[in-house]
Amino acid sequence: MTTDPRLSGHFARDVAEALMHELTNVFAQAAKAKRSNPVLQSLSNPRDVARFWSKVGKGRPDQCWHWRGNTNASGYGIFTVRGRQVPAHRYGYMLAHGALDPELYVLHACDEPGCVNGSHLRAGTAADNARDRIARKRVKRGEHHPAAKLTEAEVRAIRSSKQSANSIARKKGLSATTICRIRRGVAWTHV
Ligand SMILES: [Zn+2]
Repeated sequence: MTTDPRLSGHFARDVAEALMHELTNVFAQAAKAKRSNPVLQSLSNPRDVARFWSKVGKGRPDQCWHWRGNTNASGYGIFTVRGRQVPAHRYGYMLAHGALDPELYVLHACDEPGCVNGSHLRAGTAADNARDRIARKRVKRGEHHPAAKLTEAEVRAIRSSKQSANSIARKKGLSATTICRIRRGVAWTHV
């Protein structure tokens, strides 16, 4: 195959031109998105901001300010503004600290998903979010879990007891299966 140097020159120039065109488009779109982002615009509109606070139980600066509007299945508030749905805590964060990189998460220091108090909120990466989630699970497992029926001391007693699973189950108001799971180390693995 022979390569005409003029042809390859044309080709390189075409590619460069196409790339420049693409880049210009990307920058133009980003600038336009920022200008026309209705959520960002609403942050400086007193009426939108007042509507947001009308849905919040505002307390002292150090307290959790609970969202009273719509929530999603995980208990996070949803604020609808200018036809867009925004997580309420994200909006609360932006009111307190300014616009936020869309890539970043808003994390609760208070572990209260419905709280929109800017002083309880910080921006974090996806990794920070995952770390928080794991830490929360660690606290919620075992006897601190709201659904826990046993204390860790009781679990240890069940494991060392010579009584049958059935008789312990009757006394504790649990199923014999649960007692067996505890004894086999399938449940309450951290005790
Ligand atoms: Zn809070």
